Amino acid sequence: EAKNAGRDRIIVFSPELRRRVEHTKRISDKLVDALRQDRIAVHFQPQIDARNQRLVGAEALVRWHDPEEGVIPPDRFLPVAREMGLLARIDGIVLRKSVETVRSLAARGIKLPRISVNVDVQRLMQPDLFEDLAALGPLPCPLAFELLETLDFDEITDAMLEVLARLRAQGIAIEIDDFGRGRTSLATVQRIRPDRLKIDRSLTAQSARAPEGVDPVVEAICNIGRALGIGVTAEGIESPDQAAALARIGCDCLQGFLFARPMSDVDLANWIGARSERMTA
Ligand code: C2E
Ligand code: MG
Ligand code: MG
Ligand code: MG
Repeated sequence: EAKNAGRDRIIVFSPELRRRVEHTKRISDKLVDALRQDRIAVHFQPQIDARNQRLVGAEALVRWHDPEEGVIPPDRFLPVAREMGLLARIDGIVLRKSVETVRSLAARGIKLPRISVNVDVQRLMQPDLFEDLAALGPLPCPLAFELLETLDFDEITDAMLEVLARLRAQGIAIEIDDFGRGRTSLATVQRIRPDRLKIDRSLTAQSARAPEGVDPVVEAICNIGRALGIGVTAEGIESPDQAAALARIGCDCLQGFLFARPMSDVDLANWIGARSERMTA
């Protein structure tokens, strides 16, 4: 026991770990301030029907506006937020702000068909999740929850399946994000029976490099979607060739810089307006 404690102490004071701990502490202190000062914003990235290029929805992506550093991307603070137990709170804010945005767009005659938000497992298992959902009032459009790749088969408990069933009963779609990367597995798909798979960007990028423009692994994922009778979204679409190839193999929804980058609510309103003018012209 004493030996173990001694060993732990040595690790804690290694310069590398000290730097990490200090970094985490600095970010988390700033994050607590940011939460208090309402500096957490949401950007939206359009999702496109692969068959007819119509807008089918948007994904809500969190942004942190820091007065000194500017916009801090999620990859830089979400791991810290998760570690500090703040991620559930952030997800709650993103959901609320997303719904508010869709509602105010609708009030101006701008219709967003669907909104997807990323939901961490921490958030999913919070006892007040359903209260928060109820507090949102009637939803202005269908809602989807994207479960992140940190979702591990071993983490899926009966309690979690119950939560997912309750969400579905309320009409909320369940999607597996970043499918094909990290710890998402076919066992997870079998257990959760999601409404949609989102193919990870690293796989769709690979797809563009394959000889026929379609990577067989990506095609296999589309076939899984077809076999299950569920939708498949490809993320990270950057070229028209990629979009065409994925549409051809049965991917029904596309998302990526080719169509639009994530943008503010104001920019989204303008983007939808300009696009619907173009498409009806
Ligand atoms: P994600 O859910 O897989 O979101 C897609 C990410 O890919 C976004 O990065 C988006 O900006 C980026 N992306 C989209 N299209 C393209 C493309 O064509 N090319 C390239 N290179 N990138 C593209 P972002 O906004 O930095 O978010 C990173 C990750 O952070 C998200 O990955 C998601 O896992 C997580 N995240 C974002 N917002 C939230 C949130 O509100 N809650 C939680 N729990 N996680 C979030
Ligand atoms: Mg996502
Ligand atoms: Mg993703
Ligand atoms: Mg991702």
